[in-house]
Amino acid sequence: MNIKKNKSICHSLFLLAFMVLFAGIMFSQEQQANVVQVVPHLYIIDSLPGSGNVAFLVTDEGVLVIDSGGSIQSGKIVIQKIKETTQKPIKYLILTHYHRDHTSGIPAFPEGITIVAHQNVTTNILGFNKKKFDENTQRLSLEVEKERAELSQLKSVNSPDISVKEEKLKKDEAQLQEYNNTKFIVPTQTYQKEKTISFGGVTVQLIYPGGAHTNGNSLVYFPQLKVMHTGDLLFNGTLPYIDFDAGSNTQNWIDWMKKLYTWDLVKIIPGHGPVSDKEVFKRQEDYLIHLRAAVATAIKEGLTLEKMQESIQLPQYKEWKNYSRLLKMNIEMVYKEMTAK
Ligand SMILES: [Zn+2]
Repeated sequence: MNIKKNKSICHSLFLLAFMVLFAGIMFSQEQQANVVQVVPHLYIIDSLPGSGNVAFLVTDEGVLVIDSGGSIQSGKIVIQKIKETTQKPIKYLILTHYHRDHTSGIPAFPEGITIVAHQNVTTNILGFNKKKFDENTQRLSLEVEKERAELSQLKSVNSPDISVKEEKLKKDEAQLQEYNNTKFIVPTQTYQKEKTISFGGVTVQLIYPGGAHTNGNSLVYFPQLKVMHTGDLLFNGTLPYIDFDAGSNTQNWIDWMKKLYTWDLVKIIPGHGPVSDKEVFKRQEDYLIHLRAAVATAIKEGLTLEKMQESIQLPQYKEWKNYSRLLKMNIEMVYKEMTAK
């Protein structure tokens, strides 16, 4: 067996091992994601990697999906899981807001469906997300060029690192191609204050609460089912994210938590964390009240942002996920809200 042939067998084996590993990762991600019924006809996809909670409604007219998953791959898992549940076609995709963990799966959805969101979602997707996406594509493009140059350098000295570099380059080239083939998709239908969709006998109300988590969130309310998908107006069991740059308003957010607690709801699907009952509104409200009070006091005492980030603690929320990281960010966002002119 000559060396060249040996190398090529090695290369093929490496490739095969890589493909098996990659398929294994994909398979395990798909396996992790489960369809769970919330109430008859309405489901969530549990444990979808890097994503906010995706829900879908199945009616005689077809399927209505809420949020798309946090990557094209997660979007593909959503499509697969829906197909395993029903033969009905997807007709609607509702986006609760623009954040990428809720919208990056859009390209995986079939063309021609109706994508509905608040009007500020379009502006935010084209502003924040497209900018970030273009930056990532540019960075990867430079990286691929660098790797190509490095590879030809390795080849010129017949280095043993050639195959490792080749694999890395192949992976990055595939990723870059996916980026270059990704069309930036925006909602096809937007609304300002409220929108009602009647779909297969089920009423779906989209309600704009005003600025809260962002300036473009929708509450998705199913009055007959007494269920609401709140998007990221609720984080259950984790500290929330507050997006000042996209028009957050924590006082209005608190007011809506109070209001929603009085509604006739049996199941709440939060943006993140497990499905809950209405008590989750109280917990979110209390957290935001405590956070705002602590920041307001610190401002009154003349503390700088850095000092308040060091000193403010809300130990009653220590058990929630992302406590240390998000508390610092939350303090900054509320500080900006309270001191904005
Ligand atoms: Zn969000």
